[in-house]
Amino acid sequence: THFGDRTVAIEDKQGLVNAVFHQVAGRYDLMNDLMSFGVHRLWKDAMVAELAPPKGGTRPYRVLDMAGGTGDVAERIVNASVGYAEAVVCDINADMLRVGEERAKSWRFPAQVSFVEANAEDLPFADASFDAYTIAFGIRNVPRIARALAEAHRVLKRGGRLLVLEFSAVDVPGFDAVYRSFSDRVIPPMGRLVTGDAQPYQYLVESIRKFPTPEAFSAMIGEAGFRRVVHTPLTGNIAALHSAWKI
Ligand code: SAM
Repeated sequence: THFGDRTVAIEDKQGLVNAVFHQVAGRYDLMNDLMSFGVHRLWKDAMVAELAPPKGGTRPYRVLDMAGGTGDVAERIVNASVGYAEAVVCDINADMLRVGEERAKSWRFPAQVSFVEANAEDLPFADASFDAYTIAFGIRNVPRIARALAEAHRVLKRGGRLLVLEFSAVDVPGFDAVYRSFSDRVIPPMGRLVTGDAQPYQYLVESIRKFPTPEAFSAMIGEAGFRRVVHTPLTGNIAALHSAWKI
């Protein structure tokens, strides 16, 4: 498999990814805003609007936000449900979760979230225990994507929703060249400026390039057993929102 532009053994990738997020955890949210000019917030808003979590009901509504890092997607979901949804933020990296836990103390509905350290490829949750599974900019980092999708399918209830936000491939003539040179010339130096090291951000850029096209990734979602698999391009295909159902 790949780690950035290097070819690495699949069993080695996770350790390398963990080192990246261990290193950037404290500055992660700031870097997201700087590198995307804040646009990642709009993409996350779009994902949560698509999910449209219920604002009330007779049964609990449980969402697993996988690779949830510092918890910003979970916070949006809970807020959109006006405190009705219960979010579990799950991430393999304790440093990212610690930042998230600290931030959650000042959420509007802090009682609606819990943080669990686990690998997306091997979840510590019962079958059919969630109404929705969300993952934003996380699946790209998981070494065995098919396993993570199979686990997503397993923990979802029937009628459950899968939403994946991930970088895509810019294919607009002209804009693709601008995006490429921004990625190479601005992102790694900006990473060095803010976190002291360009390497994690070089990984980021290369991992985006290595990720399957939206069509290929949609096929993987279908292979995991999901139905009604669709994707929507966001901001000139910089990112894509993938939606599917467990039926
Ligand atoms: N969802 C957040 C967001 O959109 O800002 C964080 C995304 S961050 C780019 C990727 C996250 O994936 C990191 O927090 C990392 O620790 C996590 N991650 C990487 N591999 C993972 C795995 N195998 N299982 C669970 N989380 C993983």
